[in-house]
Amino acid sequence: MKPFAYLRASDVDAAVAEAAAEPGAAFVAGATELANWMKDGIQSPTHVVDINALPLSEIIMHADGLRLGALARMSDVAARPDVRQACPVLSEALELGASAQIRNVGTIGGNLLQRTRCPYFRHTPFPCNKRIPGAGCAALSGEHRWHAIFGASDQCIAVHPSDLAVALFALDAIIHTRGPGGERAIPIDKLYLAPAGTPDRETVLEHGELIVGVVIPAAPFAARSHYLKVRERESYEFALVSVATCIELAGPDDRVRAARVVLGGVAYKPWRALAAEHALLDKPLTAETIAGAGAAAIREAEPLRDNAFKVPLAERAVVRALTTLGGRP
Ligand code: SF4
Repeated sequence: MKPFAYLRASDVDAAVAEAAAEPGAAFVAGATELANWMKDGIQSPTHVVDINALPLSEIIMHADGLRLGALARMSDVAARPDVRQACPVLSEALELGASAQIRNVGTIGGNLLQRTRCPYFRHTPFPCNKRIPGAGCAALSGEHRWHAIFGASDQCIAVHPSDLAVALFALDAIIHTRGPGGERAIPIDKLYLAPAGTPDRETVLEHGELIVGVVIPAAPFAARSHYLKVRERESYEFALVSVATCIELAGPDDRVRAARVVLGGVAYKPWRALAAEHALLDKPLTAETIAGAGAAAIREAEPLRDNAFKVPLAERAVVRALTTLGGRP
């Protein structure tokens, strides 16, 4: 690990100013990701700006939505009964992420900025465009069973590892930031960048721009929601495929008025399955309707040599998640 300067910020503006002034600066909160990057040689910040003292740990339920401070701990958010009642998909996604120990220190803001678990990215002897632009992509010809079936490019086929982000896509969350250019409110589906062109750049955040909070607008579909994660072992493992679903039923025969179907573990960002959502709209949530949504969810998939298994896995996961939702009050 290379030497670095440590700074402890006392307020948000000071944190942003300190980070923006140093091209090699990085923010740190739970350190569950940054410490790994530094140990593995993926990232070597010259200055580490500790933001743990900032007043950004709120978890506030309003009539018009839920506000989470960027420093709210994953386990604290997951444990709140009002959060579970208002949007179960959020609590379930948080509980299925990482380990209990990591959830106790991992933050909402940091979780969204995790970097891919592609093994070639994490092991510096291998060529990786995400680590060194132009170096090549070892995963293209190497082992890529964990990699993308949607939205990949020949520069990078990695997937985003956050469970939380998948749930927040389904809930239409807004990411609030403060940076050298001021404040921004970024719809979460605009946060992550496609890998073509700049595979080393994963989000639209500028250097020195800090996530300060996440707002989840109140929505009638949030209360009937569910997160399903399929992985190779039952704990402390990233998703092969995951699904965040939300459904609003209405009318005398309980037809689907609104739906969200978002896939995780399949692309550089949570992948909203719009065709699956359209297949559900204005129909009763029968086995036939659900099967149609599952088939629609994977219609545009482009699997690689080793990960074709993810296509039927994603289809079945969508069916299972929607079937579970259909059985909930
Ligand atoms: Fe690097 Fe992306 Fe290729 Fe993995 S898939 S080796 S992260 S460029």
